[in-house]
Amino acid sequence: MSSMPVQSVKKLSHLFQPATATIATAKKIELSSKSYENLVKYGLIKQVTNGMYAFLPLGLRVINKLVALVDVEMEKIEAQKMLLPALTPTHLWKKTDRFKDNTNELFKVQDRSHRQYILSPTYEEAICSIISSVGTLSQKMFPLRLYQISTKWRDEIKPRLGFLRSREFIMKDLYTFDIDEEKAKETYASVSEAYENIFKKIGITYVKAIGNPGSIGGSITHEYHYLSDIGEDVVCRCSSCQYSINKTMHKESHCPDCKSTLKEQNSAEIGHTFLLNTKYTEPLDAAVRINNKPTPLVMGCFGLGLSRIFTVMVELLSTKTELRWPKNLAPYTVCIIAPKAGSKEENSSHYIKDIIDILTQLNMDIILDDRTYLTIGNRLMHARITGFPYVVIVGKSILQSPPLIEIHDINNSRNCKIPLDNLSGYFSKEDTTI
Ligand SMILES: [Zn+2]
Repeated sequence: MSSMPVQSVKKLSHLFQPATATIATAKKIELSSKSYENLVKYGLIKQVTNGMYAFLPLGLRVINKLVALVDVEMEKIEAQKMLLPALTPTHLWKKTDRFKDNTNELFKVQDRSHRQYILSPTYEEAICSIISSVGTLSQKMFPLRLYQISTKWRDEIKPRLGFLRSREFIMKDLYTFDIDEEKAKETYASVSEAYENIFKKIGITYVKAIGNPGSIGGSITHEYHYLSDIGEDVVCRCSSCQYSINKTMHKESHCPDCKSTLKEQNSAEIGHTFLLNTKYTEPLDAAVRINNKPTPLVMGCFGLGLSRIFTVMVELLSTKTELRWPKNLAPYTVCIIAPKAGSKEENSSHYIKDIIDILTQLNMDIILDDRTYLTIGNRLMHARITGFPYVVIVGKSILQSPPLIEIHDINNSRNCKIPLDNLSGYFSKEDTTI
């Protein structure tokens, strides 16, 4: 059993969490969002320029946990992780005719030799170009599933609410290649299942709707949405069955499956899947050898907007004044509050080390609020607004016999006092995954 020294535990006194009193950029005419204002105010994200934000340390921890969750599900479907350069040569986008159609939304870059690039919003061209550059592939290689999790850019005309609609964002993009349409449909089904697993693990109700192929294209396409008034999409949902469709794709007022009426709801698109067939592989020569002949691969692409999931999930869970996270994605799972300096219980600080040892052995993600110059009440308030799901306090009741520690389950508005010996039992029983 390893014992974690107090020195190596993350401490709030060292945390870069700059709180901001006012949000200079918030325009009052804009539909406001409680979570967006609080993410900025409580120091989880910070605007750098119009539509571009920094993830500060606590915000980035949430993103990293989301990345880890997605990686597990991608691994299960044998998708291989890679990383493409931020810049894509413009001539590739000209080959697929996407450059002129999207030119206003693209960030364009020129190097010292006047070669043109774009800061990539998506990578269908770049990935097909890599595949074609290695030559015609053998059938044994397939299904081939390649993904990356990286920053993408789009010069939005109207950026809104932080990462809800930002000019720089974090996306997981998966590109799949199969030898024929039937195999590509099998891949589409496997990835759809992986998406269901990801959304179930995040734990927030989502809607899968028939999608709008937009400028990417495709023969089959689905969108994943979180229902929220801050969202800019509208989905039409059947009142009786699971049928849902993006409003822009919907032509009738009744569900085609069961004829019930469709209800419109505001939503934010957080994922999009496309079966593209050969739209990109043909012009870019991404091919497989079949009967000794190079044949264009059948392609799919699958996006997940991680920075948008971050924004909308916290909006859906938070209160007006306090941030809330799914327990498994919170910046830290447990915040431990040490006794106030000068208090009667200050001499009981040695219990902090025991608490850290117990929670470390349970693999809990912990931070210590060592700012003992603040009252316990002040620090509990800080833990609540930041959204740490559990707070463990060494306060007055530690002086009782037996000594009791206080535990607050913030997401469920519950608290209790328990002997230190029961701490391990408390967290073993808790479902800390949601
Ligand atoms: Zn229906």
